[in-house]
Amino acid sequence: MRQLCRVGSSPASSLRARLRYDHQMATADVFDDRLRRWMASHRRVFALTGAGCSTASGIPDYRDDRGEWRRRPPVMIQAFRTQDEVYRRYWARAYVGWPRLAGALPNSTHQAFVAWEAAGTLLQLVTQNVDGLHQRAGSSSVIDLHGRLDVVVCLGCGARSSRSALQDVMAAGNPGWRAEATTAPDGDADIDSAVIASFAPPRCAACGGMIKPDVVFFGENVPGDRYERAREALASADALLVAGSSLMVYSGFRFVRLAHDAGLPIAIVNRGRTRADDLAELKIENDVGLALADAVEAIA
Ligand SMILES: [Zn+2]
Repeated sequence: MRQLCRVGSSPASSLRARLRYDHQMATADVFDDRLRRWMASHRRVFALTGAGCSTASGIPDYRDDRGEWRRRPPVMIQAFRTQDEVYRRYWARAYVGWPRLAGALPNSTHQAFVAWEAAGTLLQLVTQNVDGLHQRAGSSSVIDLHGRLDVVVCLGCGARSSRSALQDVMAAGNPGWRAEATTAPDGDADIDSAVIASFAPPRCAACGGMIKPDVVFFGENVPGDRYERAREALASADALLVAGSSLMVYSGFRFVRLAHDAGLPIAIVNRGRTRADDLAELKIENDVGLALADAVEAIA
């Protein structure tokens, strides 16, 4: 962890210290080789990624640097299942936000994971993101802990279909419906409630059931087989890296706890506080893309 320098008592010395500190921070961003050394010293790394890896692709993070909600909390599964207006609002926002999500491109962080996988020392990539950008970048061994937004499932009959096909269905069911909005990470968006009220949410063509994106909503558990696959990978790892996550969601944090309990070295690359800062031997407060690209270049 970085130590802040002690500053002198006079304004001038205080300013000099501040400038020196800023300079150290700026050069540390470029020359910090702690992550390089950490990555070079482990052969089977379990990596856990979060929203901070996708912000550079134009997908906003839910949380600020203190781990607090940046916007309203996301939809809870119970409300989605039981309240018509929550279901309608979810799909109206998702409908508006989809083109931006579908058009998002992988960034340097995703590319760094592809290069790391090719270098052979990334054992397993587990992501809390639901955007599929690791796979679009070319990573082949990815566990989508919280599912994928590009697949939808019927809560009635279990039928699965593509989200892009559902977009066409919703367009056909809502001719002339338009809304201006900004996008959140789960593909939902801010829209005026009067506009939402006129949106016709989708229903399963086969059974009339409710349609849900194939992602783990708040209030739901990660499917057991998916959790087990990730846990097994962690059991054969020699270190754990967290990239771009504040770990405020327990389903991600518990892997850090498991790693810590097993005595594995833990590194975290994240701007801002995380729930596991006191469990990590290395914490890099830097842009995750810059830090990883630099470190991976050294081991590739
Ligand atoms: Zn159905």
